[in-house]
Amino acid sequence: MSKESAAATSNKPSVAVLDGWFTMDEDKPHLLGSQCNSCGTYYFPKQSNYCKNPSCDGESFNEVPLSRTGKVWSFTNACYQPPEPYIAADPYQPYAIAAVELEKEKMVVLGQVITGVDVDALRAGMQMELVLETLFEDDESRKLTWKWKPLASQ
Ligand SMILES: [Zn+2]
Repeated sequence: MSKESAAATSNKPSVAVLDGWFTMDEDKPHLLGSQCNSCGTYYFPKQSNYCKNPSCDGESFNEVPLSRTGKVWSFTNACYQPPEPYIAADPYQPYAIAAVELEKEKMVVLGQVITGVDVDALRAGMQMELVLETLFEDDESRKLTWKWKPLASQ
């Protein structure tokens, strides 16, 4: 990673920080989860061996794009360097993390909140949408991850 290349971000190809966790549509990204073929339970991260629903013995799953929007269930400030596989920006800056209940699946998914929005701007029940943001870049590409962004009209 060279700092002097930071200005020339836009010409580089974008790649996912974590392969297969979300679609790479930068306008309308979706997290990729899985759904049990027997009972319909959704999972994120993807579940592919056995269903965690105690009353289901399903073992086959479909990959499904999850809702792009949801409501803040809880949130916190991450003032520490996150562990792998979460890769922080360099230099490290504290950021907010939101647990968002997905619109359709009613499943809570954790994610960083976009740069520039801190915990003071968040409240429970707030509508959020999924976006992709550059986490860092190297000489070849921009590394994208998913983040939660407050919906504009509220
Ligand atoms: Zn199941």
